[in-house]
Amino acid sequence: MFSKTIAQLSQGLKTGEFSSSEITRSYLDQIAAQDSKYNSFITVTPELAMAQAKAADETIGAGNAHAMTGIPIAHKDIFCTKGVRTSAGSKMLDNFIAPYNATIIEKFNAVQSVSLGKTNMDEFAMGSSNENSYYGAVTNPWGDNRVPGGSSGGSAAAVAAQLAPGSTGTDTGGSIRQPAALTNLTGIKPTYGRVSRFGMIAFASSLDQAGPITKTAEDAAMMLNVMAGFDAKDSTSAQTAVDDYTATLNQPLKGLKIGLPKEFFSADLNPQIAERVQSALKEYQALGAELKEISLPNTALSIPAYYIIAPAEASSNLSRFDGVKFGYRCENPVDLEDMYKRTRGEGFGTEVKRRILVGTYALSEGFYDAYYKKAQQIRRLIQQDFVNALKEVDVIMGPTTPQPAFKIGEKTADPIDMYMEDIYTLSLNLAGLPGMSVPCGQVDDLPVGLQIIGNYFAEQRLLNVAHMFQQATDWHTQTAPGL
Ligand code: GLN
Repeated sequence: MFSKTIAQLSQGLKTGEFSSSEITRSYLDQIAAQDSKYNSFITVTPELAMAQAKAADETIGAGNAHAMTGIPIAHKDIFCTKGVRTSAGSKMLDNFIAPYNATIIEKFNAVQSVSLGKTNMDEFAMGSSNENSYYGAVTNPWGDNRVPGGSSGGSAAAVAAQLAPGSTGTDTGGSIRQPAALTNLTGIKPTYGRVSRFGMIAFASSLDQAGPITKTAEDAAMMLNVMAGFDAKDSTSAQTAVDDYTATLNQPLKGLKIGLPKEFFSADLNPQIAERVQSALKEYQALGAELKEISLPNTALSIPAYYIIAPAEASSNLSRFDGVKFGYRCENPVDLEDMYKRTRGEGFGTEVKRRILVGTYALSEGFYDAYYKKAQQIRRLIQQDFVNALKEVDVIMGPTTPQPAFKIGEKTADPIDMYMEDIYTLSLNLAGLPGMSVPCGQVDDLPVGLQIIGNYFAEQRLLNVAHMFQQATDWHTQTAPGL
């Protein structure tokens, strides 16, 4: 049962092969028995899950089920869940019980999906390895002591370890695509504004976007069908009509024009990853697609631009954690200033503090023009690169990460080395474009992800392009050793 996709579970629920209560119970038992190996959950909610499953079974029995009704899923602990701790992986919010639901939680509740619990993540979604969590590092089910990627590492590890059939994540600079790549899963970061950010704890508001992490593109389409849509509570939410993401999954790819940015295949790329990506491209040619070399000349600037803009926005967003309104407060403050200082000093972890310092500096008078304004100008150039390229091709492909999953602890001493992991993922967020990662092979028994980038609101096309690849290959069906 644990190897089933969401689509298969949905079918089984519909035909009465099993009930939501049965599968939910099985997943909860599996989490209880196995998660000590991975640390993929921060909070498991068995009572809530079983109550939701029971109600879902009634709806299914009455013949009113949505495709996602009764499907147990896990949510990144960045989405506010009413009555349940929502920590964002931080000591700062360890005691925070959200008083309301994020819009995407409301949407899953509306179709009666079941919530198993909240998954581990890098503190405030800052990281590329899930080693920055107050709740400890997450272990990649694919290898001894390897990272699952970050920041949605718990969401990815939970699905890869078969503790949930699908999960939600967020992607500010790669945090859905990169963990999906490192754990052999499918993940999609939608166009900025496609999924509501209401109730999603903010990291960098102009970049943050939520999406699913699943075993297949079909499952991702099913979850995105629930998540996407305009939300009046999010001022950056797009009014554009929502497609049915499952409707065109099987559309043939004949004539699809794939752009290959030469900057994505440079010397920094692990040659074996390059080889896996090349074989995937051959598969696409066999499916009728045409390849074309393109250029995204400002790719190398995406790291310096992102690591100014994201910290700048974070420093502003995180100023609300001051010990006054909610979350952690230091003990026995002597005065207001002492409370601010010690609350933030004790409540935030090292990476979060580093970003607040960088961001505050970049926004400060005298430095704003040199750093923040410059970074915004580069952001526009990066966006323009994509706009130009997407006039010539339908989608852009390349690797998701420069190397497979690295060892826990390998990069923690060198933040720049860690930031380099984001070289292929950050630029999309700066441009606001959608992108996904699909499994395309292995290097030294560790998964490799193929990144697929599309035009604004082209999620339907991306999922189709990913699905057709998964119909022709079986990389996505491979599971971590021992499962
Ligand atoms: N690795 C990037 C960072 O640390 C992106 C994280 C994310 O997408 N949330 O900021």
